[in-house]
Amino acid sequence: MSRYWSAVVSDLTPYVPGEQPKLPGLVKLNTNENPYGPSPQVLAALREAALDTLRLYPDPGASELKQTLADYHGVSIKEVFVGNGSDEVLALAFMALLKHDAPLLFPDISYSFYPVYCKLYGIDYRTVPLDEQMCIRPDDYAEPCGAIIFPNPNAPTGIGLGLAAVESILLAHPEAVVVVDEAYVDFGGDSAVALIARYPNLLVVQTLSKSRSLAGLRVGFALGHPDLIEALERVKNSFNSYPLDRLSLAGAAASFRDEAYFQQTRQAVIGSREQLALELAGMGFEVLPSQANFIFARHPRHDAAQLAAGLRARSVIVRHFNAPRISQFLRISIGSADECAALVRALRELL
Ligand code: PMP
Repeated sequence: MSRYWSAVVSDLTPYVPGEQPKLPGLVKLNTNENPYGPSPQVLAALREAALDTLRLYPDPGASELKQTLADYHGVSIKEVFVGNGSDEVLALAFMALLKHDAPLLFPDISYSFYPVYCKLYGIDYRTVPLDEQMCIRPDDYAEPCGAIIFPNPNAPTGIGLGLAAVESILLAHPEAVVVVDEAYVDFGGDSAVALIARYPNLLVVQTLSKSRSLAGLRVGFALGHPDLIEALERVKNSFNSYPLDRLSLAGAAASFRDEAYFQQTRQAVIGSREQLALELAGMGFEVLPSQANFIFARHPRHDAAQLAAGLRARSVIVRHFNAPRISQFLRISIGSADECAALVRALRELL
């Protein structure tokens, strides 16, 4: 606290991202990064973009990347918004579309950045409890509200919601914007992109950080009705005209041109996840069914915080949330086959 701070700053509770320690030999399974590198075509595009032209500002409209995304997802360029990671896209969406007189609804267990944005913008919100199976129940959202947001698959549970259930939420709230945060959808979830043409209140947000292995490049995007996109553009252009630099624009577009690499790496992650889920279950863990690139699991006889500390002592880091309902769970990102094996070895020692 400093006497130079504004009242707003004094009142904030910022989001704390998973740590990024720089220790040699660390098995890092705490921030849902992809164990496989970006496509070689992305790396080539980045090298090609590292030119004297970096002295020039990038395209403020990001039109080439937007067109690539529009073609890839079968929408028009007016239905595409891009930003510096999906965190930035979400931040702009909270301000542009989710602040209303009636409260914003989101699950009690979901992405812990949502309440942080609410605090920043002064958005009134109400959390809706997941059911006993830790699932989103659409009927629980049937109440007057200003807007709705949820991750699908949900984080940190990894549990996905079927498209019919997403559609029932959209149908119940034609007057409210519904944001579906699909950061993990490529690992087995059902994307709501197919519903955009029929629901002008739907905004789908995705990222290149997970399934396209580009967390370090910072690119996310939103797809939705042109009116929703225009709202995002208005806020973006009141804040930062150039959220994506020349390298990000080139690398992100190249990623969507290498479909074979995308399919191969995402299937590898899904395969490792299924194998790891079986191994954890064999050790007595209760493993939630994941459609994401992480597993959320608890052990009936071992305290999660102690397990996390024991893993850390063995150079394996996973994420533990000291929060109601989930304090006995560990969130374990799916690493390479070797990393998964190291995790299993360390857990066997601990148990
Ligand atoms: N949404 C969810 C549900 C996430 O877990 C994350 C990753 N922390 C993000 C959005 C943001 O990812 P990024 O900013 O890297 O696109």
